[in-house]
Amino acid sequence: MQRRALIQGAGATGLLALLGGCATSRVPESAKVVVVGGGYGGATAAKYVRLLSDHKIDVVLIEPNDSFISCPLSNLVLEGARDLSSLATSYDGLRRQHGITVVKDYVSAVDPAKKTVTLARGGSIRYDKLVLSPGVELQLDTVPGLSEAHAEGRVLQAWKAGPETVALRKQLEALPDGGVYALTVPEAPYRCPPGPYERVALVASYFKKAKPKSKVVLFDANPDVTSKGALFKKAWSELYPGLIEYRPQHKVVGIEGNTLKFEVQENFKADVLNVLPQQRAGQIAVQTGLANSNKRWVGVDYLTFQSTAAKDIHVIGDAIQLAAGMPKSGHMANSHAKVAAAAIVSELSGLAPNPKPLLTNTCYSFVAPDLVVHVASVHEYVEAEKTFKTVAGSGGLSSERNALEAQYALGWAKNIWADALG
Ligand SMILES: Cc1cc2nc3c(=O)[nH]c(=O)nc-3n(C[C@H](O)[C@H](O)[C@H](O)COP(=O)(O)OP(=O)(O)OC[C@H]3O[C@@H](n4cnc5c(N)ncnc54)[C@H](O)[C@@H]3O)c2cc1C
Repeated sequence: MQRRALIQGAGATGLLALLGGCATSRVPESAKVVVVGGGYGGATAAKYVRLLSDHKIDVVLIEPNDSFISCPLSNLVLEGARDLSSLATSYDGLRRQHGITVVKDYVSAVDPAKKTVTLARGGSIRYDKLVLSPGVELQLDTVPGLSEAHAEGRVLQAWKAGPETVALRKQLEALPDGGVYALTVPEAPYRCPPGPYERVALVASYFKKAKPKSKVVLFDANPDVTSKGALFKKAWSELYPGLIEYRPQHKVVGIEGNTLKFEVQENFKADVLNVLPQQRAGQIAVQTGLANSNKRWVGVDYLTFQSTAAKDIHVIGDAIQLAAGMPKSGHMANSHAKVAAAAIVSELSGLAPNPKPLLTNTCYSFVAPDLVVHVASVHEYVEAEKTFKTVAGSGGLSSERNALEAQYALGWAKNIWADALG
């Protein structure tokens, strides 16, 4: 209960705090907010615009998939401990309980001047405020040979949970005992800093049970493990001795057949290649001209999450340029969404946004199906620097992997899915 209350911002008092204490009586009845993307950020934003406006503002959520599928816990599908269907939540809660219009479609264009979005199946929708939460685009073309290998289904990413997660599990099942699985990690920033390190632990967990002569090799373009390093390394060596090999500072520059080519080091051949390329903001944000940070990420005003390139377009989640210490995580996207939703409702009501928003993050990683480690942090808006900064002394790391945190991790997932979609 405590966890759920924390995520939801402590009920009615929390909702008012999000709005900076303003009353909802000034919310115009005719305003329309369109949300693009029904993932961790978009689903939460859609729901909270409705809640914070006392269900007065019209909200349309556009998402091409039938249901939300969670990336968190998806590495457990590779391990064999969970089914993909257990990670899915329908959008019916948003429709029925919150009166949100959910449109199953893909937004092919945004016109910031006319304030319209164009749907791939035809037609357009007008907005007063637009929220974009399109997640990341995997830049397959930055690794020569990867686009072709991916199109043929040979080299997968499974970095968006769905059919590819199941396909990668099948590749692992088909691997003979004694085979080699190789995962490559791009330079940070990328979606979910601890995700790759969790993934190799869970693939090793499967190998330990089913094919103990096999091997996991992790090629990291970064100089060291980017999150929870000591905890991951300890878990790898103690739980899976001899099974996982970690090679830092290995940047993939090409793929030929089953061979990885590196910038400096020797080529490496593996049976299953799982190549994660560099990432940038989802395609719709890039093509709308919002990716003004290194042409990869969307710059936002952190007080409102409005794009610095276009008025009345708020961008949240993995697609944005991060403030220091702010990870690309589902919990963070959920947190961005609440600040953005409150700012949108305030602005549409003619009020100033909350001047002191707070963000939270907790990231649980499974190092075995029943053992978990976490990292947590709190981030406050610092007016003088117009950015979020990690609150000194907030959050922290697990002292060691443990079974109780596995229960917390499952509770976290259940609660955040209910918070975003229920
Ligand atoms: C293996 C793995 C493990 C992870 N584990 C954790 C974890 O334990 N904890 C954690 O907090 N985070 C975790 N993450 C990270 C988390 O999944 C992301 O940070 C989060 O999904 C980002 O939310 P988002 O809303 O930005 O994007 P998403 O959740 O990806 O949502 C984007 C949505 O936008 C839709 N979309 C895109 N373009 C369009 C368009 N043009 N029109 C309409 N819809 C569109 C997509 O279909 C998608 O549904 C993990 C990620 C991975 C890959």
